[in-house]
Amino acid sequence: MTVAIGPPDSADLADAAADWAAAYVHIPFCARLCPYCDFAVVAGRDEATHRYVSALRKEIAMEPEWRPLRAVYVGGGTPSRLVPEQLGSVVGDLESRFGLADGAEVSLEANPEDWNFALADGLRQAGYERVSFGVQSFDPAVLKSLGRVHTPDQAATAVSVARQTGFRSINIDLIFGTPGETNVSWRDTVDRALALEPDHLSLYALTVERGTALSRAISAGAPAPDPDAQADAYETAEALCRTAGLVHYEVSNWARPDHGCVYNLITWAQGEYVAFGIGAHGHRQGIRPRNLRRLDAYLDRVEGGLSAEQGAETLDPWGREVERLLLGLRRIAGVVPGRGGEALLASLRGERLREAGVLGLAAGRMVVLRPLLGDEVGRAVLALQPGER
Ligand code: SF4
Repeated sequence: MTVAIGPPDSADLADAAADWAAAYVHIPFCARLCPYCDFAVVAGRDEATHRYVSALRKEIAMEPEWRPLRAVYVGGGTPSRLVPEQLGSVVGDLESRFGLADGAEVSLEANPEDWNFALADGLRQAGYERVSFGVQSFDPAVLKSLGRVHTPDQAATAVSVARQTGFRSINIDLIFGTPGETNVSWRDTVDRALALEPDHLSLYALTVERGTALSRAISAGAPAPDPDAQADAYETAEALCRTAGLVHYEVSNWARPDHGCVYNLITWAQGEYVAFGIGAHGHRQGIRPRNLRRLDAYLDRVEGGLSAEQGAETLDPWGREVERLLLGLRRIAGVVPGRGGEALLASLRGERLREAGVLGLAAGRMVVLRPLLGDEVGRAVLALQPGER
């Protein structure tokens, strides 16, 4: 059943999401490792999918009972490397263990090269209604540098198949600022994505994470992403999305009304979620547990009836306040200032950001008026001194 959630940038929705519960399930299997990826992933281990799904189900069964879920997000890795029966069994177990709230969003990530009618149809029957495609670009040369194995045509076909099989909400993920990508190529990518009329669009700058193949290549002399070119690309995309009628609701996310991603809204509102699978992080009552990152260690532990948790972070009240600001200010709806927001507004950096038109107050909320410069606001939040707390 579909429940209208309203404009994705509404303050009411942003705040309501703080009280919703969610589950995240991590599927680490990939066709091959993309050079920029630093997620908990494995390639060439598809023989372990059966064991992994059994371990996930065991982990879910070990989790204490909780409240009904407003969102289930199956991410990766590449969840679409599993078959619908496997992905369906995980959602079925989550539903039996916690219950699904009315209109719960059940979402998965998929790669275009895996997607076909049988898979899409099976996933619809298993209860999935939202799909997020890792498209990244419609330029074959950019796809190649990103190490992606699909073609632009496969991406377009995947969206069309999802539509025909009744997925309620379709997201397209794109990456901008890949070295060698021109503004013309990027504009064409966004145009082609928008022509597919997605319900949701996520646009991320290519970032260089330590320990990745991309980072090693750059150290050896390969070109690095250019921040100025990335800023231009962001502005180009922002204008194209606006013209297409998509609502900008988070620094990297645009959606049509009723298509804001509920799972993400919960995480940005500092809401609570349980998490399963390798490298998965949860959040309950201010504690953020994290699971083992290595596949074999995870399988051994869970198959032995033990928890997959590797550690947990417990933030003190000030740490939670800083986190609330950092997450909440990513949203176009912003945050109620609270203790940390007031400290930021009173600080010299906060004052400068207000004078520069980056930070503002509107209807009792603190908002970032120029999302492109949101990192500067984040740095100002992190720099608040003890006397300002
Ligand atoms: S497909 Fe996605 S998760 Fe897998 S290696 Fe590439 S970027 Fe990482």
